[in-house]
Amino acid sequence: MRSPLLALFVCVNVMLVGCSSKSITEAADLVFQGGAVFTSDPENPTASAVAIRGDRIVYVGNESGVASFIGDNTRQITIGDGLLISGFMDSHTHVFNGSFSDVGVNLSLADTREKLQSALEAIRDANPGNGPIYARGWQNHLFPKTGPLARELDTIFGDRVVILGSVDGHSRWFSSRALREGGVDAGYPDPQPGISFFERDPLSNEPLGTGREKAGQHIQAAFVPGDKMAYERRFSDWLPRAAAAGLTGVFDAWAGAPTEQDAYAIWQALGESGELTLRIFGSVREVDSADVIASRFKAFSETYASDMVRPEAIKLAADGVPEGHTAFLLTPYVDSTNEDFGQPMISKADLTANITTYFSHNIPVHIHAIGGAAVRMSLDAIEAARNETGNQAVRATIAHMDFVHPDDIPRFAALNVTAQTSIQWAARDPSYFNIGSFVGMDKVENAYPVRSIMQSGANQSFGADWPASAYLSTYKPLELIEAAVTRRLPGELAMPVRNADQAVSVGEAIIAMTRNTAIQVGELDTLGSISVGKLADVVLLESNLFDIPADNIHSTTITMTVVNGDIVHGQ
Ligand SMILES: [Zn+2]
Repeated sequence: MRSPLLALFVCVNVMLVGCSSKSITEAADLVFQGGAVFTSDPENPTASAVAIRGDRIVYVGNESGVASFIGDNTRQITIGDGLLISGFMDSHTHVFNGSFSDVGVNLSLADTREKLQSALEAIRDANPGNGPIYARGWQNHLFPKTGPLARELDTIFGDRVVILGSVDGHSRWFSSRALREGGVDAGYPDPQPGISFFERDPLSNEPLGTGREKAGQHIQAAFVPGDKMAYERRFSDWLPRAAAAGLTGVFDAWAGAPTEQDAYAIWQALGESGELTLRIFGSVREVDSADVIASRFKAFSETYASDMVRPEAIKLAADGVPEGHTAFLLTPYVDSTNEDFGQPMISKADLTANITTYFSHNIPVHIHAIGGAAVRMSLDAIEAARNETGNQAVRATIAHMDFVHPDDIPRFAALNVTAQTSIQWAARDPSYFNIGSFVGMDKVENAYPVRSIMQSGANQSFGADWPASAYLSTYKPLELIEAAVTRRLPGELAMPVRNADQAVSVGEAIIAMTRNTAIQVGELDTLGSISVGKLADVVLLESNLFDIPADNIHSTTITMTVVNGDIVHGQ
């Protein structure tokens, strides 16, 4: 990373010896011009030229204005038919959990057996040799109830250890060699019959290839070590893919590599060596009493305090997920005979008390809430904590918010709460019908009311929640942008649109993954838009997203990614 101090030193020296040449002191390192710029800055939404010096944006305007920033050593880049935007900031993701199983091929996008076959061949071709292969993301609905078969993997990979997690993380698919090396045969006892078990041939009791829940965890542990070094290697391997997707910053919602301390230590070391190509706004999990967590947050804030890595918020959970009937709803689950609303993960009194403690220390909170009752309870708790502490400014985010009662929508703006959504979930994919059968089809149709929230004046951000997903698992911002605009899965033109009233414009979607995430993490003064004085995190796209068909957004190439003024992807 370039040093601003060094630049200052050079400049002062030049001035001491009588610097008369204006062009030298003001020359930019990088100039983008000759095309469209979407700034994410409402005061100055579009431009046609941008200059970057050191790690800062020094000019935003037009060709004639940028001319005085061009010196002999200024690199000039033509935007052409492309689009220059602020770097993408994901507002809720899990970079270690995601990168640990990422091999550069998205299995969750394979929604037919043919696509899955091609994806598996791509994984094989990218991993020559005979070492073990571990990846995650296959879709359950492609297979019968007994899951995929070991011999299907053997046909593609040969006699090799292959372990593939399902997209929801509840199943593993093993090759025959993996089962054999793990000692799993007809006589092998299931860890917990009916819950953690291997799918078996009913006659021979031989394992078929799929393990549910914890079944086969020992095989994965033997071949895919989950120690700090392994996490660091897989995360480092992923960083170029993140840069190629235009990611320049993330809020990480549940760090573990495998411990939280390890996660921050890895980020910090990569940041110091200059290898970290995206900014990390981390979380601290609420796994202890609020006082203990508040002091841990403060200790982390002192140890990890760079412009690339710092803790941002305490992560709390108000409820679970609808698939497990653990989302806390305002109306009962439709498939339950008794009045089952689900349960909160924490009592309202405890949630309120804990948030009050954090607010009194001026520590932001980030609360997982899926069901409408969990969202309402979180808003109530934030309201009470704001009243109790008098702290209206400390940041608060409610994450996911699949179901929000219309009465609660205006409360986000009123209470200064960021609404965070994994917008690629807002398609009529197979999970739509699955979750609809639990909570009611009207609920899933009206889920993710992001446009109403934006129009209410609240801050609405988008983040992928990678690798967690009921269907499409992705870290790629352009897939989220397309889903936000089309309310369909990326590229799925034939798919019916889900609740078209809540679709947003291309500009609103970009702002939700730039400016609005910067607001969420308290960095609007330094990040989130192409504005003079802000840190130079920008992304050059091959096509102008405002001019192309919406279903082409996800396949647009990221030509260049710049972080802190340094080109981290492209050339
Ligand atoms: Zn998450």
